[in-house]
Amino acid sequence: MTKYDYDLFAIGAGSGGVRAARLAATYGARTAIAEEHRVGGTCVVRGCIPKKLFVYASEFAHMFHDAKGYGWTSGRPHFDWKTLIANKDAEIDRLNGVYVRNLKNAGVEIFDSRAVLKDAHTVHVVNEKRDVTAERILIATGGAPWTDNSIKGHDLAVTSNEAFHLDEFPRRVVIAGGGYIAIEFACIFRGLGAEVTLVYRGDDILRNFDRDISVAVHREMQRMGVRIMTKTVFKEIEARGGGERRVHLSTGGAVDADLVFWAVGRKPNTAGLGLEKAGVELGKDGAVKVDGWSRTSAASIFAVGDVTGRAQLTPVAIREGAAFAESEFNGNPTKVDYEFIPKAVFSQPPVGTVGWSEGDARAKFGAVDVYKTDFRPMKNTLSGAESRTYMKLVVEPKTEKVVGVHIVGEGAPEMIQCLAIAVKAGVTKRQFDDTMALHPTSAEELVLMRTKCVA
Ligand code: NDP
Repeated sequence: MTKYDYDLFAIGAGSGGVRAARLAATYGARTAIAEEHRVGGTCVVRGCIPKKLFVYASEFAHMFHDAKGYGWTSGRPHFDWKTLIANKDAEIDRLNGVYVRNLKNAGVEIFDSRAVLKDAHTVHVVNEKRDVTAERILIATGGAPWTDNSIKGHDLAVTSNEAFHLDEFPRRVVIAGGGYIAIEFACIFRGLGAEVTLVYRGDDILRNFDRDISVAVHREMQRMGVRIMTKTVFKEIEARGGGERRVHLSTGGAVDADLVFWAVGRKPNTAGLGLEKAGVELGKDGAVKVDGWSRTSAASIFAVGDVTGRAQLTPVAIREGAAFAESEFNGNPTKVDYEFIPKAVFSQPPVGTVGWSEGDARAKFGAVDVYKTDFRPMKNTLSGAESRTYMKLVVEPKTEKVVGVHIVGEGAPEMIQCLAIAVKAGVTKRQFDDTMALHPTSAEELVLMRTKCVA
């Protein structure tokens, strides 16, 4: 028996914290977890899951349009925001219940409370006004939307946190940012019928993706009617009465809106956690510094997920939580492999990507071979939809290995999840070529690209 109340105390019941706590408890550790909002964290409560439900809702607009060319006639479709919110909330409640149940079934004690560190083994459970001790503490507090508070009227805009709970559907939306959240919400609101303006500070949206992906997504978003303003930032947000806002822009122009939305990145949730007192070092961006074993600078304290500023993705947090539990409570030292993480942006059509962009591959490998195709998917012939599918393979010539696959088009994330297995296993371009096409699909184009692009 140790001298501590628990073997593990996890702070934050999101994807990383829950996985770590459940596994640790399964391995016999006396485990507790504290959550100040709702068990499930960003992904389940105010991120991936409700976002994907909104994407599904939004995509019906394209389907109603496309159906006509296939002979369908129906009444004028009407969208009801309140129904979507209520149904989404019910699903999130269900998932929250599943997470709570799974934790309890594994024997994890749940504190519905904020928890802060007092020292390297002591946690203060705020709602219970008491301290508990643990041999190991796991920081899994995630991240939170960042907003530019230097802008006058910054607080008149919402973030993704609030966007999931708007009372009324906004008819005019202005979004700041050009990353995942900005692109996904711009498409969601546009698909649901809003006028949407995206205001991005740089030249190419999705700057961290292959440039052809940025161009293709930009083109598709414009096609669906999103107004994209590049090299532009907010200068001021002004309240105009009756909920209307006017966004003054760096270009000198202004846009009126019912909803202004910050999507300019997320920051690790480390403020006020008492980390300094416990000897936990933070990086410049406030992220907890960790080594490859998710160890912080304090021997008894570990951190996983977005709070560490590594890849801010749910499956990564889950892997990190599992690796921590394996290493510390199952005698099975496990590290997370960050190479070839598949990624998706749920734009309309969506992006799926794995491996190196062409630009990064050139920088890493020198010369690379590139294969591209851009076509109108068959489904869009009768429907008259103009949306196109874009595919790109990046090949390292020396080994002939496919080191990057980038797709924009219907089904791209699903294709990429499968392709990521092959790419991670070191598939070569010849093996792509040797694979029989599956006809008629869009994915067959992946094994039919034969002509190298001239750089
Ligand atoms: P991103 O990092 O994707 O994008 C942030 C955007 O904000 C970038 O376009 C950035 O511009 C811009 N920006 C940053 N600072 C400023 C500023 N001061 N003024 C104006 N613009 C600024 O962050 P998100 O918030 O969209 O998403 C956060 C993370 O959450 C993502 O990195 C991703 O890991 C995760 N996520 C994943 C999703 C998925 O898997 N589908 C969905 C949603 C989120 P620039 O490009 O010039 O730096």
